[in-house]
Amino acid sequence: MSHFLDRVETALRDPDLKTALGRATERLGSRRSVSLDSLPDSDAVRDMARRAKLGLLRDLAGNLETFEKNLIKNGVQVHWAEDGAAANRIMVDIAKSRGCKRAVKSKSMATEETHLNHDLLEAGLEVLETDLGEYIVQLAETTPSHIILPIIHMTKESIGKVMHEKIKVPYTSDPEKLAKIARAKLREAFLSADLGITGANFGVVDSGALVLVSNEGNARLVTTLPRVHVAVMGIEKLVPSLSDLDLMIKILARSATGQKITTYTSLVTGPRREGEADGCQEMHVILLDNGRSRILGGPLAEILGCIRCGACLNACPVYKNVGGHAYGDTYPGPIGSIVTPGLRGIKAWKELPDASSLCGACRDVCPVRLDIPRMLLELRKQAVDEASIPWALRIGLWGFGVAASRPWLYRAGAGLFRWASGLMAKSGWIRKLPGLAAGWTRSRDLKAPAPKSFQELWRQRPVRPAPAGKEAAPVR
Ligand code: SF4
Repeated sequence: MSHFLDRVETALRDPDLKTALGRATERLGSRRSVSLDSLPDSDAVRDMARRAKLGLLRDLAGNLETFEKNLIKNGVQVHWAEDGAAANRIMVDIAKSRGCKRAVKSKSMATEETHLNHDLLEAGLEVLETDLGEYIVQLAETTPSHIILPIIHMTKESIGKVMHEKIKVPYTSDPEKLAKIARAKLREAFLSADLGITGANFGVVDSGALVLVSNEGNARLVTTLPRVHVAVMGIEKLVPSLSDLDLMIKILARSATGQKITTYTSLVTGPRREGEADGCQEMHVILLDNGRSRILGGPLAEILGCIRCGACLNACPVYKNVGGHAYGDTYPGPIGSIVTPGLRGIKAWKELPDASSLCGACRDVCPVRLDIPRMLLELRKQAVDEASIPWALRIGLWGFGVAASRPWLYRAGAGLFRWASGLMAKSGWIRKLPGLAAGWTRSRDLKAPAPKSFQELWRQRPVRPAPAGKEAAPVR
């Protein structure tokens, strides 16, 4: 896999990507604000949702046991998967033992995480994504670049091109025509599939219900038309009860797309029962750990309260510039910068926590108020403690520490830097820094420092003569 900084550079050189991301994240951000403002007591709802999610995590094992019992009571077969490979193996076994040949899938980040499609294809099954964005991603042989909007990085022209090349339809960039073509293809697949695969937005502990939210209705078709339905659900996706679910539903769509509610909210409570008109004949749930229990109980445990709304991506100045593929794994943006090192270990992902300005916009928009900047700082600390940090950086940070704790040295260093940068600046900007600092100016200019420091200006401010018996005061 390419290096993080190479992926960032590739993204920064793509002007279309920046335009597409800028427009979409701006639109989503303002819709979110309007929609949350229209929710009475939205702050209280967010607080209650946070309490419900984080409270449940305190006894995740107990809640999972109750959830499993209720699933079984509903006629669902439950499987536990320690990692992604185990989850995929269970899925392939179910498919093969039931003679399934064709699978349709609704959008699922958990199965993206396990690379399920790859293993199903290897096992000889046909797999088709049925969420429109995921369908395009599958045709384009790429990966989603946003957890809610998988093709946020693509233009309608590039989508038209992909459909023209991959399914041999006449080229068009008309979104309605493109959707119509996809709908016809997907309808055929729904009717011929014998295996339906979904993720789960939530699992309701006290009723054993799986909750799927979508805007296209495909999740409903995936869970009802094929004879076998298998859901892959991360073990952290639980909510205690239906009243807690109500809180989550209120904030999820508002934070994700600015809608008051998604078009379809499906509660799946088991396979078809006698006398029911629709539903699958057999239902399975695979409960996926894949590193989550390692996070639980540690300083990053709060991240397991994430409801995957994507609002932190839309608010993040780094994501808005580089898009999802630069993060190099399933989950992009601020949430990905925590989840990926959390699940996969900091050593191989030590750059991700640095992909943040720590401005706090992610924490402000998070519907369950996760303290993302705190967790990013924790991961930066882990990166320094555990991963191999370049010696140049270590020496630089040590040097800064020494200077910052000795005011005279800091002032002398800052003065030297101002003098040297003054020699390099043209029209107030430095285009190229030398040596180790060259990386800074590779993709942007550096504003030349002001001729005088704040401390110098402060010392030089005019002082008003003091009235008799009083101290002199600076002029404001
Ligand atoms: S961290 Fe918060 S804002 Fe980001 S996806 Fe999760 S719930 Fe949404």
